Amino acid sequence: MGFKSAAEAQAFLSGIKFLQARHYHSERLGPIDFIVIHDMESGEKATSAEEWLARTHTQERESSVNYGVDSDSECCAVLPSQTAWHASGVNSRSVGVEHPGRASQTRAQWLDAFGVAMLDRSAKLVGALCLVHGVAARQATVDDVVAAYTGRPFQRGLISHLTASQAAEAMDKPHHGHYDPGPNFPWDYYLPRVQAWASPTVPPQPEVSTMARRVNDPTKPKGASGERPFQLLSDDGRHLVGIHGSKLTGQSGGSDVQTVKLPRRCVEVVEWLDEASDGKLKSHGVIAYSASHDTYEYTWS
Ligand SMILES: [Zn+2]
Repeated sequence: MGFKSAAEAQAFLSGIKFLQARHYHSERLGPIDFIVIHDMESGEKATSAEEWLARTHTQERESSVNYGVDSDSECCAVLPSQTAWHASGVNSRSVGVEHPGRASQTRAQWLDAFGVAMLDRSAKLVGALCLVHGVAARQATVDDVVAAYTGRPFQRGLISHLTASQAAEAMDKPHHGHYDPGPNFPWDYYLPRVQAWASPTVPPQPEVSTMARRVNDPTKPKGASGERPFQLLSDDGRHLVGIHGSKLTGQSGGSDVQTVKLPRRCVEVVEWLDEASDGKLKSHGVIAYSASHDTYEYTWS
């Protein structure tokens, strides 16, 4: 269980069946701080998400939710880059996810065979949203929501429609009093699974440094070819990314400081070879990154 990276989670989100809702804002009206968990107040069917999607596309009622899930599929009616009309007062800072079922369901009904399959799919979807948009896989509070709207410190997270309604009430904003998915929604089953999907299975690469400076060291004696050893420094000059030693064989060019673009921050230059041809110095290097070795090639101009 889990995505390798936010990029893999984004690829999963991008592959979800999409049919634009009839009613929505075409732009995001605020950051995605909260993911609102809804239920459809409907029976539970393997076609619930698809039927919800078709309904949202044509319905007269001026409402929409970003995603719908059932036991074997997930659908999207409003993209995260747009704003859905699903939780009055909190729409601008949230995305919503619809689930088949009713707010009156017991815990056993939420955790029947259909419910477990549906919650597991939802956990993958919501985990992907958390990973891509930097939302913590935790339950946020009414105070978190109010704080987000009033400029106080807060923590992002998942909320029920009830929490959204209570936050709207606390801010004197109009709302519909919805309290789905109800008091028996099994958060204790659901949240650890969301958390698992929200945690990348491959740790992110260290901070990327794309530029390094090639600095000749004037204190070092010239080699047999008449050139001096040089150092590679990160773009900010603080991080030594490599030292060239004895393999310098060509011309280093007129300048003592040259800039070279590296694909990622490297830990060490394992091997470096310069060759001169046609007045240009071509460098071949094997560079160790934190997790792998890459071959690197650069032509100095
Ligand atoms: Zn709702």
